[in-house]
Amino acid sequence: MSSSSSAIWHSLKQLVLPQSCVVCHALLLPNMQHICLNCIADLPEAPPYVVGNETEQALLGRFYYNYAYSWLLYQSGGIAQKMMSELKYRGNSAMGVYMGKQLARKMKEYQLPYEHALVMPVPLNDKKLIKRGYNQSAIIAEAMAEDLQIKMANENILRIKNTETQTAKNREERLHNMMQAFELRNGNKIEGKQIILVDDVLTTGATIEACAKVLLKVPGVQVAVVTVARALR
Ligand SMILES: [Zn+2]
Repeated sequence: MSSSSSAIWHSLKQLVLPQSCVVCHALLLPNMQHICLNCIADLPEAPPYVVGNETEQALLGRFYYNYAYSWLLYQSGGIAQKMMSELKYRGNSAMGVYMGKQLARKMKEYQLPYEHALVMPVPLNDKKLIKRGYNQSAIIAEAMAEDLQIKMANENILRIKNTETQTAKNREERLHNMMQAFELRNGNKIEGKQIILVDDVLTTGATIEACAKVLLKVPGVQVAVVTVARALR
């Protein structure tokens, strides 16, 4: 194909499948992917990774992690929330892919170790999975793993059982209940591995804490946490 005919072909594709910004839906320039320049400029990025950053502080003393990092700051009505609802409630998986790639880019930029790690999305309970049809964290995690060229942990290793919600008096009891809800299968397959736990938004961190504590029962397992956003408190 000559360069002019390939340019025509490209324009035709743009005509048939116009690519629009996942946040504001403005049409994208041919060389842009997923998100427009205006929205990129408005992204509420968390400060660059440092040891003891606010995500690490939020999880400090709750379980041992190698590192914990969140890319964006999440606020009600903010751009990060818009991005999340595109992914979670409008089935916009391109948004999840974009987020996963950004996380991978940031991990490389901050030299967070991942070379021998397995990526594991925080599981979604079956009720939500059936309602939504997919686990948004898994879409993010898969794109991240692909970009980093590392493997995903088998999705059946950590599952959420369909347990009735129990009333819990305090934080300890709620954590205990949540840990009971996770079911670890074939834990021996992750022995000695570093697991990078991936989630969309870190709020209280209770789910991640329960997940991590169940994983850390496996001999030699180490955990790192990467989330797309951290809720501002
Ligand atoms: Zn935009």
